Amino acid sequence: MASTPLADPALLRDLVIANRILAREGVLDAFGHVSVRHPERPDQYIISRSCGPELVTEDDLQCFTLTGEQVAGNPQPPYAERAIHGAIYEARPEVQAICHNHSPSTIPYGVTGVPLRPIYHMAALLGTEVPIWDIADDFGDTDLLVKTMEQGRSLARTLGPRRVALMRGHGSVVAGRTLREVVICCVYMEQNARLQAQALALGEVRYLSPGEIARMSEALTAPLSSERAWSTWRRRAGFAD
Ligand code: MN
Repeated sequence: MASTPLADPALLRDLVIANRILAREGVLDAFGHVSVRHPERPDQYIISRSCGPELVTEDDLQCFTLTGEQVAGNPQPPYAERAIHGAIYEARPEVQAICHNHSPSTIPYGVTGVPLRPIYHMAALLGTEVPIWDIADDFGDTDLLVKTMEQGRSLARTLGPRRVALMRGHGSVVAGRTLREVVICCVYMEQNARLQAQALALGEVRYLSPGEIARMSEALTAPLSSERAWSTWRRRAGFAD
């Protein structure tokens, strides 16, 4: 429906690719979403309409203010939980991309008190501490969905300056400086969560140290690594070069 592009077509293409990769790698299924801040209008962000991520195309994209009013793009219904994105962009000027997901292997860490922590180098982007946001703390019994800016801002406060926060009984948010950083963090968060459960079943776990996390985070976000991951996963998600 959009006759003029919402932003640089290459960025829109990358957002579509990010949707498809995250679906293909088991982070998103029919639910969950990924967004990017508008590069020329930092008080707006771009995200798909309400649609399964593996089906998203450029024609599905919509543009919103940080408080969730649509300003451009596909006229069909938006994601109910877009307040997650607006509230984090509002609180974190350096954040350029966000994924909200229900990545299945992470769910146990939101409900047991066992902290999600990097057990191998590829998951260093999880950082030294992954906080858990419990919607019931501020809002009591809900459907667990983040549907208001007040709820989104509460989640953003728990996230603080970090890249990742778990959402109790629901999923997580991942915020980063680039779409590639967010995608890499999400893919290895899911794998780490599964591997960490296997390790915990075997015995005491030695986690990455804060120094190791810092050094490997630099390596993972450097172009050599991030382009290698992106190009591999985009091909696996069905995009020819
Ligand atoms: Mn959700």
